[in-house]
Amino acid sequence: MTDHTFQTLGVSEPLLRALATENYTNPTPIQGKAIPAILEGRDVLGLAQTGTGKTAAFGLPLLQRLSQDKTVAAPHQARALILAPTRELAIQINDSLKVYGRHLHLRSTVILGGVSQHKQVEAMRHGVDILVATPGRLLDLVRQKQVRLDKCATLVIDEADRMFDMGFIKDVRK
Ligand code: AMP
Repeated sequence: MTDHTFQTLGVSEPLLRALATENYTNPTPIQGKAIPAILEGRDVLGLAQTGTGKTAAFGLPLLQRLSQDKTVAAPHQARALILAPTRELAIQINDSLKVYGRHLHLRSTVILGGVSQHKQVEAMRHGVDILVATPGRLLDLVRQKQVRLDKCATLVIDEADRMFDMGFIKDVRK
């Protein structure tokens, strides 16, 4: 834990309320470092063990920036993209973002392989604020022009080391 509170890190009120409901009293070390930097709009490379609060470390400032900038996602577009190496992680990230962002009005969805693409295509029809995706299916839907990333202003690569170990480097470059 750090000396900071989420408030002194600059986290906004609707997010603070969600964190209070989750009984998060203090930021973890990676949250203490990453949140202010991301809120400033800086690029961040974070390294921390599993279970140390990395999702909130990038998720809270991402939600905050998206909610404060009133840009509306265009059809098939995502304002922010989070890449994850596995389906399970992608689902988990989206679930956490929904918990943290419960008082914001942002739209997020998940795109992953191994299931029908129908619902995913439907979810992208009007565009989303945050898209959490595994690389294979994402590229597939980009090729089909169901997903467009040319307006996407923020990229998060979660578990980047694992992603590259799994051979996703070419997909991530694309
Ligand atoms: P993560 O490393 O993002 O998978 O988070 C691991 C677990 O820690 C999750 O169950 C989170 O809900 C929880 N968590 C994240 N940040 C905090 C915090 N600041 N205080 C208490 N629990 C937290």
